[in-house]
Amino acid sequence: MADSLDFLWADEGTSQAPVKLRCPNCGNLGEKSPICFARPGNSPAWSLLLCPDCTAGFYENQTVSDYADEGMSAESTTYFLQQGAAVSIFADILAHIQKPPGAVYVEIGCGFGFGLDVAQHAMGWQARGMDPAELSAIGRHLLGVDITPAYFDPTTVPSGSCDVVMATEVLEHLPDPAGFLREIRRGLKPDGIAVLTTPDIAAVRPAIAKPVLSATLTVGLHLILQSAASLEFLLRQAGFTDVRVESDGWKLTAFAATVPLALRDDRRARQAIAIRYLIERSESRAQADDLYFGFAGRAFFEAVSAQDQASAARIWNNLGPRLHNRYNIDLDTITAKIEGKQAADHGDISALMPLNLAAIMLARAYQRLQSGEARAGLLPRFAAINAVCAPLWAWLSQLRIGDMQTRQILWVAQAEVVLCIAAQGRGAVLTMIGRLPESPTGAGRDAIVRRAVEFLIHGERPNLATRLARQESLPHMRQTGDISTSALAKSFAREMFYRARQKLRG
Ligand SMILES: [Zn+2]
Repeated sequence: MADSLDFLWADEGTSQAPVKLRCPNCGNLGEKSPICFARPGNSPAWSLLLCPDCTAGFYENQTVSDYADEGMSAESTTYFLQQGAAVSIFADILAHIQKPPGAVYVEIGCGFGFGLDVAQHAMGWQARGMDPAELSAIGRHLLGVDITPAYFDPTTVPSGSCDVVMATEVLEHLPDPAGFLREIRRGLKPDGIAVLTTPDIAAVRPAIAKPVLSATLTVGLHLILQSAASLEFLLRQAGFTDVRVESDGWKLTAFAATVPLALRDDRRARQAIAIRYLIERSESRAQADDLYFGFAGRAFFEAVSAQDQASAARIWNNLGPRLHNRYNIDLDTITAKIEGKQAADHGDISALMPLNLAAIMLARAYQRLQSGEARAGLLPRFAAINAVCAPLWAWLSQLRIGDMQTRQILWVAQAEVVLCIAAQGRGAVLTMIGRLPESPTGAGRDAIVRRAVEFLIHGERPNLATRLARQESLPHMRQTGDISTSALAKSFAREMFYRARQKLRG
């Protein structure tokens, strides 16, 4: 869908007049102006209308899709499991909630079931979910979680029976979100908490990278796109009195209750819960199976991002040998030239490497950096990421698995190579930085340029630093903050989560 998106902004040569159409979100009957038009393939024009009252967007076409018979290819399933997609996002979201062990957790549209797994193993809750998609059957089997293979049936959730009800990436698929939220509230205990995620309509604007835009729009499957304000409005309409809606610019996360919310706001405390959970789950896998690489890869990445060196070392002690045993890969000696060529020549790349190898390689390089190795010496490690994983990205793209995480990591690796060259004080940094594009997420290049200048200054190459600053038209040569690995981890994880849900939902 991402590739075939035929798309126009409302002010790009079209002149559709405002339409008088009832807003399915708030019921407003007035005129609605189009934001954009998206026509996937040859289907009739789809316009996304903006409700001036509640500020949500909705498609003129409100046809609901059937998700029950959605199949997944073997490659998609392998990818999903090995990426450990969504799992750390679920861990972070649920770790906000301070409910004791034994609390009743219900997840609507639970997909593979990582949310249930987190609820059960990280939080100690009694967890059950419902989802008709095929992926749910796989998750039920592999994770051993309780999933009813069906759409949400309100009669199966007694009134006032749940401590936590979660629905991630569900709301945007529903024709009556207000009614859905009322059902969630009905199912909650008086002090229960509702948790929702849904795309943020704020991401529907020209500056957003096209793959992200396309994922947010998901023409044909998404019906209503919320703004932070419209989502809060809906939750209050449904009777919730304490509502918190957070946005990272393209995704909304909401917590809502009818009593004051007491959330765990300490990010590091949540991160520690997530890392502990991921380590335990990876160590529970007897074999180096797909799910092992999903849990372990994610655990490793999160631990390195949190600069938790003890946890990172513990995971690597297991992950390193298992990478070698299953794939014959040794990250500390992998030679970019040979391995990259081998991957490029190979038909089925999933036989050569785990599909989250880019994340593992990046985390391993950062782990070595954190343990005190000189950046200049890590150039081959960062360079190998692109050589080995660019074919992986190409292969996934061929399969129409638009893996934004791998794409973003390839960019980060390219940027790190530039920084290594800068740390070595070599003049090649000028041309290399000239060739560095903006990152797929639309931000980050500027920070890399500034860091390269700083490295040159610290390496006593002031002339080179000045030339670079001039080449890149840096207005001020001031010190700037680093791109922190944890910030990167968060954006990767969100992207993964989103992508995973896309695979499930669309
Ligand atoms: Zn509205």
